Amino acid sequence: MKSLINKIAEITGEENLIVDCDMSKFTSFRAGGKADCLVQPQDKEQLKAVLQLLAGSDVQYMVMGNGSNILVKDSGYRGIIVKMGDAFSSIEIDGTVLTAGCGTMMSRVANAALEAGLTGFEFASGIPGSLGGAVFMNAGAYGGEMVQIIKEATLISRDGSREYTVTCDELELSYRHSKLHETGDIAVSVTLQLAEGDREAIQAEMKDLAAKRNSKQPVHLPSAGSFFKRPEGYFAGKLVQDAGLKGFSVGAAQVSPMHSGFVVNNGGATATEILQLMEIVQATVMEKFGVKLEPEVRIIG
Ligand SMILES: Cc1cc2nc3c(=O)[nH]c(=O)nc-3n(C[C@H](O)[C@H](O)[C@H](O)COP(=O)(O)OP(=O)(O)OC[C@H]3O[C@@H](n4cnc5c(N)ncnc54)[C@H](O)[C@@H]3O)c2cc1C
Repeated sequence: MKSLINKIAEITGEENLIVDCDMSKFTSFRAGGKADCLVQPQDKEQLKAVLQLLAGSDVQYMVMGNGSNILVKDSGYRGIIVKMGDAFSSIEIDGTVLTAGCGTMMSRVANAALEAGLTGFEFASGIPGSLGGAVFMNAGAYGGEMVQIIKEATLISRDGSREYTVTCDELELSYRHSKLHETGDIAVSVTLQLAEGDREAIQAEMKDLAAKRNSKQPVHLPSAGSFFKRPEGYFAGKLVQDAGLKGFSVGAAQVSPMHSGFVVNNGGATATEILQLMEIVQATVMEKFGVKLEPEVRIIG
């Protein structure tokens, strides 16, 4: 592992990697263990070289964006995490087409669209995280989903050998899923097809959705958003609430009293507490309603 990390440092510079990285500092849950190494490539060439190196090793590796949908187990991740950070943050606008790097925060994309008077991205303006994470998850809110606005995406294959562009159809986006779940390929930039709109109306819509989010979701506490996927025909939060689990805690992990679809960290929760809470919620909902709740949050390690 040490010699692999040294080789990565030769590609990215030592300043762009953290050995024994405390992942609670890099995830919105503010919980979890350490990764052997977290590396932030500074451009596409570095990313490809790092991926090629990793693909040729027997060490496991994964990519992350902003860590808003990830929980690393307390036992940690024995491998390398490649973070798509600021170096992949860029926005270009050509008419109604917006192209952004996958490390760009969703809020930044929303503001750029607003400034340019482009409509279509409002639904996503309050979704935390990077554009790459949103493509991988086909993130959605308030009736919108990324699949509705993506035109194409530029990907790098998981082994770093190939850079190619796919259409939205080829990403095979469905509810909180994309083809990238299977291929492990990395999104480096995404082109969105937006439409001309009225700046004041766009701003008003973004404000309205932010107010809804702030009044209904525990945005003041660390979490990873909705913990469970929506089971077909149900709402996860309603099932959890109807099972009597609103406010239920394991240590400092709690089913949010504000929104039963969220698990929050009340301060110092361990990943183990969060996962124990998840299992109790899953078992109770299964027993009471016969419905299987699957985590939307990606559990790592
Ligand atoms: C308070 C709160 C509210 C939320 N509300 C919503 C909501 O309304 N709707 C919604 O859909 N989600 C919501 N989420 C969840 C989260 O914001 C989204 O899933 C988001 O898209 C994750 O982006 P990220 O950059 O943080 O990804 P990460 O958490 O870093 O990664 C998530 C997954 O994406 C993969 N990934 C990340 N970047 C790339 C890339 N460039 N190429 C390939 N794979 C990549 C990772 O491997 C990982 O499997 C919420 C989260 C929080 C904390």
